[in-house]
Amino acid sequence: MEKGLNFLEEIVAEDVKNGKHGGRVLTRFPPEPNGYLHIGHSKSICLNFGLAKQFGGKTNLRFDDTNPVTEDTEYVDSIKEDIKWLGFDWANEFYASDYFEQIYDFACTLIKNGFAYVDDSSAEEIAAMKGTPTEPGKDSPYRNRSVEENLGLFTRMRNGEFKDGEKVLRAKVDMASPNMHLRDPLMYRIKHAHHHRTGDKWCIYPMYDFAHGQSDSIEQITHSICTLEFEVHRPLYEWFIEKLGIFPSHQYEFARLNLNYTVMSKRKLLQLVNEKHVDGWDDPRMPTISALRRRGYTPESIREFADRVGVARRENIIDVGLLEFCIREDLNKNALRAMVVMDPVKLIIDNYPAGQTEILKGENNPEKEDTGFRDLPFSRELWIEREDFKEVPEKKYFRLAPGLMVRLKSAYIIKCESFEKDASGKITVIHCTYIPESKSGNDTSGINVKGTLHWVEAHHAIPVEVRLYERLFKVEDPSSEEGNFKDYINPNSLEIISSAMAEPSLKTASTGDKFQFLRKGYFCVDKNSIPGKLIFNRTVTLKDTWAKEMKGRLI
Ligand code: ATP
Ligand code: MG
Repeated sequence: MEKGLNFLEEIVAEDVKNGKHGGRVLTRFPPEPNGYLHIGHSKSICLNFGLAKQFGGKTNLRFDDTNPVTEDTEYVDSIKEDIKWLGFDWANEFYASDYFEQIYDFACTLIKNGFAYVDDSSAEEIAAMKGTPTEPGKDSPYRNRSVEENLGLFTRMRNGEFKDGEKVLRAKVDMASPNMHLRDPLMYRIKHAHHHRTGDKWCIYPMYDFAHGQSDSIEQITHSICTLEFEVHRPLYEWFIEKLGIFPSHQYEFARLNLNYTVMSKRKLLQLVNEKHVDGWDDPRMPTISALRRRGYTPESIREFADRVGVARRENIIDVGLLEFCIREDLNKNALRAMVVMDPVKLIIDNYPAGQTEILKGENNPEKEDTGFRDLPFSRELWIEREDFKEVPEKKYFRLAPGLMVRLKSAYIIKCESFEKDASGKITVIHCTYIPESKSGNDTSGINVKGTLHWVEAHHAIPVEVRLYERLFKVEDPSSEEGNFKDYINPNSLEIISSAMAEPSLKTASTGDKFQFLRKGYFCVDKNSIPGKLIFNRTVTLKDTWAKEMKGRLI
């Protein structure tokens, strides 16, 4: 079914049709370099880059770096890496800080035209004069300073003659406006802080509202797309542009992406990192792009997710199951298959010749043509999953138990004859016989079995570490719960299996390689693997409750 245009596509299509801005489309993605990008940002990235591409336009990457205290080049670098990895190219890389001189001139223009003034009031006094949504605010005693005095003071602010907080520059709009953002909003504050790009050149910095729209105008952005919380800022965005008579960029809002069982504000993610609740920004349990990449997500799966979520004007919370569904679909089609035994128990095939090893063939990916086969050494001694054996099976048990038969994947049918236990009652060895005529691909045994088990040959197996991740939070929306969001961290979000046994074909796997471990889930090689000690992250389990839920429903 052809999907209709979303409301933003409709707006852009209409503008292009009407030749607005000469039919030109220029969007921008404007991250503040104060943290790593998260899955919410990927929504905005796909939207901004996607819209431009769809209508033959371009997208700028603009770092909104107006707050020197929280920003850092580490974040700039990671943001660029993540956008590229997601598959997008920006037309220009810009920084709001590149425009500081121009924005300063804009401020002087507003002062000269009587639309801005320097206020000596403290932050508390300004807040007290602001009024409430139902009561008008009060004019500051500094509101009617002369243009000359304002220009003089603003120059002295820039020259560093005042301390932080001693003065601010405010727009002279309307202290009685029902929109609180129009009650003489701040344009500049004094901050004697080192900026990651401009160094110590500036000690006054523009506020978001007096930097964002101005940067849009300077770049001649046609469609400035942001999240709904900025809707109330739009009248101010337009007021500044109108009073300055600069390029009429226009702002459009859409609902931000919220995901359950996680938090998404960079401020909160930074706390998780700094307080070591996780192992860095790219800890595979984090909702950051870098963490998803490390966990085994592909750019395609994230773009597909953004697409399925769609664009709306109403806030909602998306089930993380949808994200998992998207990666599962991708990996099912594209990941190579392998066998890894998480909790190994020895299995001996008593009627298989001692000292013999044969090389069987395992399908690399039955879902994808021409992916071929891999070698699977097979011999008398194997590892199988401890949980695949039961001393006393219940009814309808199709795995291994005394007297029962199963197929070993890509190998033979075996029958359990006996088992050995140690003093503590733990099974140490399972003894079986195999049916030589039952070899996979050439089975003439005529025997039908219900269960198929994964296995690895004991002498060729390589020990690996496997990391199983669960949700980082125990509740759907940790931020809306009582108390602190960190009270709801899941203490069991990481299980490390340090003695799994993998088939030998995995020996050459390298960082980022993705596999389906048969019957276990999708896994990818972690960056901290070292030769001889591979570490696998579980990307997602095989079970797809989401797919069942979605059957017959169009999302
Ligand atoms: P956070 O609140 O998570 O720190 P932010 O909005 O402060 O995010 P920015 O770096 O300012 O982060 O965001 C860059 C762009 O990404 C903005 O246009 C913003 O609206 C958008 N964005 C941020 N979070 C989301 C989200 N959850 N869903 C969609 N877009 C988002
Ligand atoms: Mg922000």
